[in-house]
Amino acid sequence: MAKKSVKAKAATGAAQEGTNGAGNHGPMDGYRRTDTFEPESTARISAHYSDILEAIGEDPDREGLLQTPMRVAKSLQFLTHGYDLDPAAILRKALFKEDYSQMVLVKDIEVYSLCEHHMLPFFGKAHVAYIPKGQITGLSKIPRVVDAFARRLQVQERLTNEIRDCIQDTLKPRGVAVVIEASHLCMQMRGVQKQNSVTTTSAFTGVFLNDHRTREEFIKLISATLH
Ligand SMILES: [Zn+2]
Repeated sequence: MAKKSVKAKAATGAAQEGTNGAGNHGPMDGYRRTDTFEPESTARISAHYSDILEAIGEDPDREGLLQTPMRVAKSLQFLTHGYDLDPAAILRKALFKEDYSQMVLVKDIEVYSLCEHHMLPFFGKAHVAYIPKGQITGLSKIPRVVDAFARRLQVQERLTNEIRDCIQDTLKPRGVAVVIEASHLCMQMRGVQKQNSVTTTSAFTGVFLNDHRTREEFIKLISATLH
């Protein structure tokens, strides 16, 4: 995997423990608070954004824009802080032996990512399920894995597969199911300008692939509005 050379400084805070991805329990739920930045990266990205402002016909020295390159540089480091996270390690930190062998489903996990083709946001919801085989992970870890992959330059298809593969390889469950529904600003603000289109991607392993009843139960559960 390509490691980007400009990256946010790894924050040590663990401010986002305890989310279940389905509700709001605090402002930083599911998100790593990254408000420290590498000064070198910030300076480098800022300089480029000053150029970009000029290139689009703006005056980077006018008052409203004076701090903009620096703000964008910090924002970009936050939006791509997933490069600094190891999603498998997030799961491994909370592995528990457990005999539970029914579906574990975390649905409606907020997803914010950047498409790698236009570096414009795509955002929506992820639904992640697995059927344990002897071990489970902390529920809060699933949204954190989603976030660790989402906070990079992505395409929705790869994001979906990466979440699936990480859970499959780390937990070794009987099966994993991931569905992501997302709106892409690169489609809505430019390009085909389809305002209301939602892209759905899915990825399955194990029993979700081989047993259509299990897959259908998952689809039924994520379609149901229980809350
Ligand atoms: Zn795009």
